[in-house]
Amino acid sequence: MTTSLGERDRKLLWHPYTQHGLGVAPLEVASARGAWIELADGRRLLDAISSWWVNLHGHSHPEITEAIATQAGRLEQVIFAGFTHEPAVALAELLVASAVERGTGLRRVFYSDDGSTAVEVALKMAYQYQAQRGAPERRRFVALKGAYHGDTLGAMAVGEPSGFHALFRPLLPEVDFVEPGDAPALARIFADRPGRHAALIVEPMVQGAGGMRMHDAAWLREAERLCRDSGALLICDEVFTGFYRTGRLFAFEHAGLRPDFITLSKGLTGGTIPLAATLATQEVFDAFVSDDRSRAFMHGHSFSANPIACAAGVASWKLLHSPACQKRIAAISTATAAGVARLARHPAARRARQLGTIGAVDIEGAPGYFSTLGPRLYEAALRRGVLLRPLGNILYAVPPYCATDEEIALIYETMERLLDEGGSGR
Ligand code: PMP
Repeated sequence: MTTSLGERDRKLLWHPYTQHGLGVAPLEVASARGAWIELADGRRLLDAISSWWVNLHGHSHPEITEAIATQAGRLEQVIFAGFTHEPAVALAELLVASAVERGTGLRRVFYSDDGSTAVEVALKMAYQYQAQRGAPERRRFVALKGAYHGDTLGAMAVGEPSGFHALFRPLLPEVDFVEPGDAPALARIFADRPGRHAALIVEPMVQGAGGMRMHDAAWLREAERLCRDSGALLICDEVFTGFYRTGRLFAFEHAGLRPDFITLSKGLTGGTIPLAATLATQEVFDAFVSDDRSRAFMHGHSFSANPIACAAGVASWKLLHSPACQKRIAAISTATAAGVARLARHPAARRARQLGTIGAVDIEGAPGYFSTLGPRLYEAALRRGVLLRPLGNILYAVPPYCATDEEIALIYETMERLLDEGGSGR
């Protein structure tokens, strides 16, 4: 008798964010195309969360697939210290041109592998920049309550202090946290420890994993001003919010910020291959340029600027800016607003909210990431053929841009049914 994929998996694998003691078997995926994931048993699931928010254009998009195949046949990987190649430069040119067009001074691109490493790079660069300008005592960071920036130690340090990383707090550098929207508290943090902060890190406009919490642009502008006054740098983590998720290419545009760093990953390759980029200003870069080797940024990864990933990035970027994709983003934003407006009228709905292609609603009931409501809602959505991944009692959708109006309507109808059932999963 042949052993099933699930059984082979169960013997060997350790899945992310998974309590294996609960005995929930992973779904066996055979293939995926467009907005749909196809399971080995023939079921199809509408990918309403773009597979952890990475997939921009739908699964297995032919143009990205072709770019990957072509690049793999030409140059699949090469060390990026002391070497360069066309895809790395071409993608950097696209990123910098867009950042500069939007009024920033972001002119340098440092590649790494995923959202967490992009954040680590920004934090380390911010600290080293301050140190090399003669302020090594600026070693604290300021972050937002409800933040999520990744799972590596530095990225965890600037994440929500009482969240699922709380266990690791004793291992992490100290960070000052402020509630998004609370400018006086931020001013106090800077005033209480003058000259001690390297940078403030924010997810502009929407805190993703923290529960799709949205804050306003005016507050971000105020936060930027406070950073400038205190000498702290500003890091905008656009790992999730970039790539028109919020209706603009970068979420910082809503507030007209001029960040010193932005971090990008997830959608950077259209969600096909891991790749991340940290963009920094020329001024930051210049503080590392010297005839002294020890002032270089001593950080790199085996796969920094992997050519296949960068080629996928260029292909995805071109698709993203095509008139067809821009039209879909606008249409999805409109359909999302309509879906969220319907949810808002539901008696079990709390805080229905939308920005661009992101829609979210809280279900009245047990909040918190570890509540059993989340898994029950997840199962109930799967039974209806839709992949949602509720954050506790928070339902949200972040669909790929290939999704049709009918598919968006199906996602929001599914959420409405889940609200009807109040999470009972009937
Ligand atoms: N920053 C933000 C804003 C994120 O949402 C995430 C991932 N959800 C990360 C960083 C970490 O990215 P990764 O999982 O690729 O390490």
